Amino acid sequence: MTHLEGNPISPGYADGISVVCDYEIKRRIELSHRAISHSEVVTEYQRLDDALETSSNDLKRIEQTALNDPRLVDSAALLSVHAAMASEIAALVKQHIGRKLVNVEQALDAVIRDFVKRLQKIDSEYFRQREQDVRDVGQRMARDLASSTPWTDEPLPPGSVIVAREILPSEAIQLAKSGVVAIVSEHGGASSHTAIIARSLRIPAITGIANVTSQVQPGMRLLVDGETGSLAIEPSLSDEESFLGRKREYERLATSISAEEKLPCVTQDGIEISLLANIGLPEEVTHVAEHNLAGAGLFRTEFLFLESHERPSFEMQCEMYDNMTSGLGDLPLVIRTFDLGGDKLPPFLLEGPKTNHSLHLRGLRFSLADRELFDTQVRAVLRAAQSADVSILLPMVVGSDDFAQAIAAIDSAVEQLGVLRRPAIGAMIETPASLYALDEILALADFVAIGTNDLTQYMLAADRDLSEGTDHCTAMHPAVLRAVKQVVEAAKRFQCPVCVCGEQAGDTDFACLLVGLGIRELSLSPSRAAAVRQALRRIRRDDAIRTADLALLCRTPQAVRGLVQQLLEGRPARGQQPVGICNASSNYPIDERI
Ligand code: PEP
Ligand code: MG
Repeated sequence: MTHLEGNPISPGYADGISVVCDYEIKRRIELSHRAISHSEVVTEYQRLDDALETSSNDLKRIEQTALNDPRLVDSAALLSVHAAMASEIAALVKQHIGRKLVNVEQALDAVIRDFVKRLQKIDSEYFRQREQDVRDVGQRMARDLASSTPWTDEPLPPGSVIVAREILPSEAIQLAKSGVVAIVSEHGGASSHTAIIARSLRIPAITGIANVTSQVQPGMRLLVDGETGSLAIEPSLSDEESFLGRKREYERLATSISAEEKLPCVTQDGIEISLLANIGLPEEVTHVAEHNLAGAGLFRTEFLFLESHERPSFEMQCEMYDNMTSGLGDLPLVIRTFDLGGDKLPPFLLEGPKTNHSLHLRGLRFSLADRELFDTQVRAVLRAAQSADVSILLPMVVGSDDFAQAIAAIDSAVEQLGVLRRPAIGAMIETPASLYALDEILALADFVAIGTNDLTQYMLAADRDLSEGTDHCTAMHPAVLRAVKQVVEAAKRFQCPVCVCGEQAGDTDFACLLVGLGIRELSLSPSRAAAVRQALRRIRRDDAIRTADLALLCRTPQAVRGLVQQLLEGRPARGQQPVGICNASSNYPIDERI
């Protein structure tokens, strides 16, 4: 049994069997261990020789690439070492097959494990480091042996826990359909789109476990704790008992939290906070009523077509939006136009020029560059808006120019179609540029929605898809809090409704701070609604304001967290006077910063 620790990015507990995926080659690695008869030995030797040949050719090819690149030339030698290692390992595997009469997969597994164990025992840092090389070579040979088809095309066995380096959003959607019970990965941030989808699907997920794909073998039993981020591999009886204890406690807490779900979301001093749902998948519409939410505050429409090979037609979109509105009844629906680009590029766009870079065309700019796609979507949304409470939200607005172009396109569609109702049009505030064009944007907007996921990553220059050092990319950073405050103040002057729809709105601590900063509308993952409702029902607005004012003076997210903790424990910080807020950072006095 082994324990590994990672970052929990989607809550819940799962007990399942590992399916290891290698995303470099997009294949599921299946190591089928079995005993063989004498007559099969020759076939297994042949399979091993073939795999060795493929591995050696691959290594030669990579070595050549390294030799041609001045930056990599020093690493080329390592690849010949790996090639030599592969031959040495193959010889040992052959002996093992002959002696133990097992298939090549099982023999390879045994040889690598034995090799690694011996290296780990040597009292030399140098040899311990070679262990990684052995695993690398072993994994390459295992991949070359695996004759499995791409995992996405195959149904997974029930109770599968996906173990991967990284999972892309479209792959997460695909996985949901195959009944995966948990996801464990090496990379992926808490506000990555994959994490968002995992939470939507209520699949527990852990990320940030280095080399997990080489530490877990296919078919191993795993206990996944999506609350603490711990992973037990081939658990012992006591692991299992402790896991079940934590799971029961989690379920007990969830039941006690959901007991309050039907109550209004009102602070102790009577301030009502509107809770809405972030929705990515149509089936989530049922969660709105389930969690007593006031509507859907963010419908991420691009998620509908992330796997699509065809451009979404008008008819197809009409059907999707109709399903959503009829699922919501009279409740409002904010449809965000496609936020494409970056990690969200469906197959129908991949045929064009390569655009899968996070800072290439994104969001609204993408839509304005592909007017046919945008206009089709606008027409479908306008149609839905004639019989339901639908608003349009534009992602990644940079300033008043792109926003005005989009509004003009919508207005022209309204005119062309001759529809009676022009829906409210909102801008997402999620780029640093939009903070510097707030007044111009607010002058045009019917409402704004602060997207703290992107705002945080672009303000702090920290990739939301990476988990390493999670405090590098947190909306709890004082700079992000000041940005939120700035938007709230500006929106007040324009009497423009403002909502926060980033994933951290679903974090109880952050939600309390947002109330203190003046936010009255939160759109969050429905799975987080009960906990947020319960936390907000326990605080007073005055205390939240004082905490937020002090948080604006902080220097670090840790200091902010300390203040919120005090608020939630019913002993809000009172030591300092609330500080007047305005736009310039010089108004957060240096002497008073915590
Ligand atoms: C955000 O950036 O906060 C947001 C809500 O948009 P998305 O997570 O879809 O990028
Ligand atoms: Mg965003």
